[in-house]
Amino acid sequence: MGRESIENWRVQKCAKACTKCEKVFADKEKLFSKLMFDDGEYVRRDLCKECWDKKDPGLSSWKTTYVEPPPPQEEAVKKENAESLLRKLIAKENEEDLNAIFILTVMLERKKILVERDVQTTEDKRKLRIYEHKKTNETFMVIDPELKLDELESVQEEVVVLLGGQPRNPPVETDVEARADAG
Ligand SMILES: [Zn+2]
Repeated sequence: MGRESIENWRVQKCAKACTKCEKVFADKEKLFSKLMFDDGEYVRRDLCKECWDKKDPGLSSWKTTYVEPPPPQEEAVKKENAESLLRKLIAKENEEDLNAIFILTVMLERKKILVERDVQTTEDKRKLRIYEHKKTNETFMVIDPELKLDELESVQEEVVVLLGGQPRNPPVETDVEARADAG
């Protein structure tokens, strides 16, 4: 108990070849991804249709499509957006960033960039949401901080600032509060 690190959340790329038979995936090939808990760590396995055994689905599994990764230089010119910020914060591995990471994940889910695949409970009883990036097939594992409504707003503002926007100051009434007053 009491793992200090937050190694439970991370980004895992789709393998370039089947984990079992090592056949290289073709662009647009259908494959199966599964998550396993191996030696205290979440491990992703990608299997071709022939090697996929539905009787051994691991913790979570889903069918996906292999996509050739884009050339790396494309990313360097892009300016900061929700996705690049999310990747940066995940790479930093700071516990304080969990709220912002979660909000960014939800933003990207709304934009249909990430799709939720499963929810797991970690060893320390936290909610771990598993997302797949629709374009790159990467798996994003994000701790759900289970924010309350009033916390949500301040974290959202924090994220807006991180994305280079202006904080709303003084804070304006939210729809929820306005509705509560009216009712
Ligand atoms: Zn295979």
